[in-house]
Amino acid sequence: MSSAFGIDEIQGQERALVFLKKYSSQPELLPPLLIFHGPEGTGKESAVERFIRHVLCIEGTSCGHCVSCRAFMHQSHPDIVWFPLEKNKQISIGKEDNPEEFTIRWLIRTRLYYRPHLSKVRFIVIPDASLIGNEAETALLKSLEEAPAFTRFIFIVTNLDQLKETIISRAVCIPFGYLPQSIIKDLHYKNSLTYLPAQGGSMDPFDCPPQVLEQISQRIGGNLRQPLDYLRLEEWILGYKEEHADWKEDFSFKDFLDLVGLLLLQEYSRSDFEANLPKMEAVFRFKEKLHEKIHGQENISLSLLIHELSLLEQK
Ligand SMILES: [Zn+2]
Repeated sequence: MSSAFGIDEIQGQERALVFLKKYSSQPELLPPLLIFHGPEGTGKESAVERFIRHVLCIEGTSCGHCVSCRAFMHQSHPDIVWFPLEKNKQISIGKEDNPEEFTIRWLIRTRLYYRPHLSKVRFIVIPDASLIGNEAETALLKSLEEAPAFTRFIFIVTNLDQLKETIISRAVCIPFGYLPQSIIKDLHYKNSLTYLPAQGGSMDPFDCPPQVLEQISQRIGGNLRQPLDYLRLEEWILGYKEEHADWKEDFSFKDFLDLVGLLLLQEYSRSDFEANLPKMEAVFRFKEKLHEKIHGQENISLSLLIHELSLLEQK
């Protein structure tokens, strides 16, 4: 049965949908922990919401009319414990006596073992599981092992590497990938959002000033023909970094480099896809390095990329 805000409306995430459909039709198979993982802006939170609404629905269809669906829509469902998301604020274990709300001790003492109120299951959602502190994690691991069947956890995380192996081994991981451009365009159109050419496969665009995008595009578009051009590009990037030492919180040098990588990929795929494949692979390796989050490695990764690309350009 279809409904507004249903699982079927999740776009471009076929692999994730296989899991979500299976567990929403057979909630008794739900493992103690599901981990929704993948890049920002690919619809993980919205998928979690749709999934939870479906599983909690009294009719089992995300009907939109039952007491559970209505509580969900009023954001007052008693069987959803959605941890608040505060940037860089760790989830802590909580005080021994009288633990604060949304700490692990609070969760264990006041929620975990009590039966749900409306639905058959209670969901505990941690919207950025990379923020779980060490002590909290140890306590959580025990809860994951012992959690009653009516309490199920959902973690959301951009990269599985941010979680310990001991946590991952207790979970079923649900992968989200970058969205195809056609879907990104479509979603922007439907939501009356401005579509940027450097959008990537995510609904979360770089928060980058348009003139920066313009400048990078100019450096790259049709201008990379010989090794010297690549050296000039590197020089310009490093010069730009020097001149703009004070990056905004949500647009860092790493984001800047990410954007360079993205525009390089667009340029290569536009001109001669087959011939440019080795260069695109080099850019992907570069992006991978960038996301390893090793501080101070950006310049080295960039020189490596420039070196590889100029060698390939000579061939
Ligand atoms: Zn319902």
